[in-house]
Amino acid sequence: MRNGKTKLVMVVGGAGFLGSHLCDLLISEGKQVICVDNFQTGQRDNLRHLQRDPRFDMIEADIAEPLPASLSSERLHFSEIYNMACAASPRHYQADPEHTMLTCVLGTRSLLRLAEANGARFLQASTSEIYGDPETHPQREDYWGHVNPTGPRACYDEGKRAAETLAFDFIRAGRAEVRVARIFNTYGPRMCADDGRVVSNVICQALASEDITIYGDGSQTRSFCYVDDLVDGLARLMACGTEPPGAVNLGNPVELTVLDLAERVLTLTGSRSRIVHRPLPVDDPRRRRPDISRAKALLGWVPRVSLQAGLEATVAWFRREMAHPVLPTQPALPATASRAD
Ligand code: UDP
Repeated sequence: MRNGKTKLVMVVGGAGFLGSHLCDLLISEGKQVICVDNFQTGQRDNLRHLQRDPRFDMIEADIAEPLPASLSSERLHFSEIYNMACAASPRHYQADPEHTMLTCVLGTRSLLRLAEANGARFLQASTSEIYGDPETHPQREDYWGHVNPTGPRACYDEGKRAAETLAFDFIRAGRAEVRVARIFNTYGPRMCADDGRVVSNVICQALASEDITIYGDGSQTRSFCYVDDLVDGLARLMACGTEPPGAVNLGNPVELTVLDLAERVLTLTGSRSRIVHRPLPVDDPRRRRPDISRAKALLGWVPRVSLQAGLEATVAWFRREMAHPVLPTQPALPATASRAD
C-alpha cells in the first residue's frame, strides 16, 4: 500500500452497488481510496475499471471477523472511513441473518474503533429500514420507527439500528466524529440482477419478456433515488464540518406505488410482459418516503436526476449487461490485499 503520509479514504463494502459508485466519485475528486469488501454481494466487476488506477487499492476482508492487521498498520492513516458494508436486499440479507446482524454490530464496532485510532471521520450507511413499517409519513429523522424485532427483516433492521446506537455512543463519548446517513431505496447501474429488488426485477423481467412479479396488489409505495444523487449526498455528509443534530435521511422524495413503477418500466422498454401478482413478503413496509429537509438545510443537497432519466440510464445498463453477460471466470482483482502491499 502506498506511503504512510498520504491521507486515505476507506470504503468498506466498496465493491457493492453503492460502494463502487462512491469509490468512483472519491477517485474523481482525487482521493486515495482503499476498498475493503468480503465479496458476499459485492462484485469484482464493479471495480474492474479502477484496477490499474494508482489511487485505488483493495483488501478482501469480512468486517464481521476481526479486522486484518494491515488495516491498523502505522503506515496507513485514514482520514475518512465509509461503512457501506452489509447485504442490503431482503433476499441477500435474509440468506444468512446471523452474519447480517454481526456485520452490522461487530463490523461497525471494529470500524468505529479504527476511526477512533486514526482520528478519522466515520460515515455509517444506515437505512430507511430502521423506520420499519412507518406510522408517520413522510419519515423524518426524529421518528423512532416501527420495527418487528423478531421477524425475517429484523436481522437487517435491528442490526442497522444497533449500529446507529454504537455510532451515537461514540459521538457522545467524544471517541470519533461520526455521520449517519439513512439511505432510502436507491437504483441505477450495477444493481445485482439477482438481488430480488423491485427495480432490478422489473427491468430484467421486462427486457426478457418474462412476467412482471408484483408482490401483493402493488399499492405499497417506495421513493427511488438515482445512485449518482445518493453518493453525492454521502460525500457531502462526510465533508460536512458541522456536527449534524442526528442521522440524516438521503433519498428521493418522489413517491410512487410499485405498480406505477412497473408500468413506467413497461412503457420505457416497450415490453409486452404481463403483470402477475405474488404474495406480499412478511413485514413488507406499506409506504416509504423520506423527509429530506435536514439534508437540504445541512448539505444543500437535493436529488437532481428525475425518475424518467434514472430509469432510462438503468434500463440501458441492464440491456448492455444482458446482451454481453460477464462470464464468471477468474477474479479480476487479487483475492487478498492490494497491488502495492
Ligand atoms: N417487490 C415487488 N416485486 C418484486 C420485488 C419487490 O412487488 O419483484 C416489492 C416489495 O414487496 C416491496 C417493494 O417492491 O414492497 C420494494 O422492494 P425492494 O426489495 O426493492 O426494497 P425494500 O422492500 O427493501 O424497500
